[in-house]
Amino acid sequence: MQFIDLKAQYERIKQKIDDRINTVLQHHRYVMGPEIDELEKKLADYVGTAFCISCSSGTDALLMPLMAWGIGPGDAVFTTPFTFIATAEVIRLVGATPVFVDIDPHTFNIDPEALYDKIKSVIAEKRLTPGAVIPVDLFGLPADYQKIGPVTEEFNLPLLEDAAQGFGGTIGGRRAGSFGTAAATSFFPAKPLGCYGDGGAVFTDDPQLHSKIVSIRVHGEGSDRYSNDRIGLNARMDSIQAAILLEKMEIFPDELERRQKIADSYKQHLQGKVITPDCPDNFNSSWAQYSILFENTQKREINRNNLARHGVPAAIYYPLALHLQKAFEDLQYGQGDFPVAEDISSRILSLPMHPYLKESDLVKICALID
Ligand SMILES: *Cc1c(COP(=O)(O)O)cnc(C)c1O
Repeated sequence: MQFIDLKAQYERIKQKIDDRINTVLQHHRYVMGPEIDELEKKLADYVGTAFCISCSSGTDALLMPLMAWGIGPGDAVFTTPFTFIATAEVIRLVGATPVFVDIDPHTFNIDPEALYDKIKSVIAEKRLTPGAVIPVDLFGLPADYQKIGPVTEEFNLPLLEDAAQGFGGTIGGRRAGSFGTAAATSFFPAKPLGCYGDGGAVFTDDPQLHSKIVSIRVHGEGSDRYSNDRIGLNARMDSIQAAILLEKMEIFPDELERRQKIADSYKQHLQGKVITPDCPDNFNSSWAQYSILFENTQKREINRNNLARHGVPAAIYYPLALHLQKAFEDLQYGQGDFPVAEDISSRILSLPMHPYLKESDLVKICALID
């Protein structure tokens, strides 16, 4: 059994993917080929934003808006400690300070009230200037933008949605990637929409931000390639990856439906055994992960070992909250600073989740859980 079955997906669309890749091999425009433009239009259309800028990874997609906004030393960037390292890493990469805010125990996403309080206290302390907020759409569930939006507006802060896992999720029919001043997503193979290598994209409605990021993506280029207006990156997406994504987008809506059916089935089979993930009214998850909660660490470890013995892969996202990582040692956080994130990380387990998971395998997985 696979945690994420990329082979089953490839077999479904093999001919089309192979043809698309072959087209790139024929036209030889490996970097910024015609597929890039085609993909960006299609992605912006899907998400519902004016602009999409494809790029080399989800990490660069998070980094570039911060660079474009001029976020740097002395700025506080508010985010969740319960996420993949990249979310907070980019804050450090621009020289700013990550300021963590605890999560909601049901959705695992940043707690909007705690965010409000934290911004207030940073302003009162006068040590750092609030610079931006990065909520994460964890495991596919969009963060609570209906409550976060008014907070960032009140303090006039740019909101960067980390939709690396949330791509395909919705709130009231509106798609993830459209909730921030800008949003970043990742096309790493294991994400809901993945390519065959690294890839990412930024979404925005802001034309000025769009043109700055287009420049940053290629070494800060100006009106021509050898005039440079700013310090940038080499953060382009390869044409081959864009070609692969164009084909995968065709089956993406169907894959989201399959993921939803699998999530429904998991919920039904796990009822009463463990806490299954919450999806608030009006929200749809893209089910990047299906993560359950056990009563305590010991129960989780017994179950994890039992699943492994029966050939079922399961993963812990995330075993150590970011404020306790060595990389952020200098921020001087400690155990107990974010009790919800710490508690969840000690009890959570993610089960196999992908559009091609068989019902018989799902039943087997659930039967092993106790
Ligand atoms: C995967 C991921 C990223 C980084 O994306 P890459 O494409 O691997 O650079 C950022 N944030 C979150 C929440 C992610 O899951």
